[in-house]
Amino acid sequence: MVMPQFPLHIELLQMIKGYWLSQCIYVAAKLGIADHLKKGSLSSIELASATQSDPESLHRVMMALASVGIFTATESQQYTLTPLAECLCSDFSHSIRNMVILLGEPEFYQTWGGLLHSVKTGKSAFEERFGMNLFEYYQQNPTAAEIFEQSMNNASALEVAAMIDAYDFSGFKTLVDVGGGYGKTLGILLQRYPHSHGILFDAPYVIDHCLPTLKEHGIVERCEVVSGSFFEFVPSGGDAYLLKYIIHDWDDERAISILKNCRQAMPAHGKLLIMERVILENHMSSFAKMSDINMLVICPGGKERTEKEFKAIIEQAGLEVTRIVSTTEEICIIESTIASN
Ligand code: SAH
Repeated sequence: MVMPQFPLHIELLQMIKGYWLSQCIYVAAKLGIADHLKKGSLSSIELASATQSDPESLHRVMMALASVGIFTATESQQYTLTPLAECLCSDFSHSIRNMVILLGEPEFYQTWGGLLHSVKTGKSAFEERFGMNLFEYYQQNPTAAEIFEQSMNNASALEVAAMIDAYDFSGFKTLVDVGGGYGKTLGILLQRYPHSHGILFDAPYVIDHCLPTLKEHGIVERCEVVSGSFFEFVPSGGDAYLLKYIIHDWDDERAISILKNCRQAMPAHGKLLIMERVILENHMSSFAKMSDINMLVICPGGKERTEKEFKAIIEQAGLEVTRIVSTTEEICIIESTIASN
């Protein structure tokens, strides 16, 4: 057990003030502070000039961030990177800069202010605030959609490496990534398996902008792109169907409809790979449980699920779970095939 460092009321106050720190980290990420400090230390006046900001206010935010170990401040008020701050650098191998930006943007950050509404009504706070669901909103707001998909690219860069360590993808000739965003997951998998091909499937407004990611991974020739809605169809022709962070966006009814469309498209030997967090049914702390609240406020009926809940919706779509593989990241691979009866 971790012993509290402070009296309990202070511990609790630190937790409720988490959103203060959250916005400070967001501002640093959005302004690209860590990228500016990569070549060496800078003062708040220099940082303010590089980011068109107010020097005094930026200095106060930098001091607050330095007080929690993100950046260090020298006596002459020059700031430098710490290992934590490196994760905010755009080109760092474990960069989470795009994710930090997404979580601090109004679509996520302000929507969390509607958690009480979600708890009272059971409905998405996002829909209450923006009058439409998250993906309808992104279709109409290209800048916000770009931030969202870049954040997904960030997450995939970390998670797909862990999935390759835990699961053998080498036997699949064609991988179909359903709701695959800009194609980061396929990019990493096809780079690792040079004899495999990919089909990237997502909404038209996303597919229209996927080329830079496919080019970055050198897979343009080996990856077909198809646009459409997974509530209507899923492309055929794959041995493996990937659903990474798709099912948790939707309520059971819509999740089953996506799974049924995958089942329809799959050949008899095909495998469906749901890549998601799985909630453990105990009282231990886990990121999946907080992520579940994120799904409640942001997504149209979204939720993280337990193993039992996953098995129930998978069975209702005519599939059966063959195994669940965990990885060193919080993401698991739930492998299913077409049910035998
Ligand atoms: N699989 C990706 C992206 C997950 S985010 C990853 O893990 O990085 C959810 C994705 O579902 C988004 O790219 C979104 O555009 C896509 N999506 C949402 N509704 C869709 C629909 N009706 N048809 C196809 N894709 C959809």
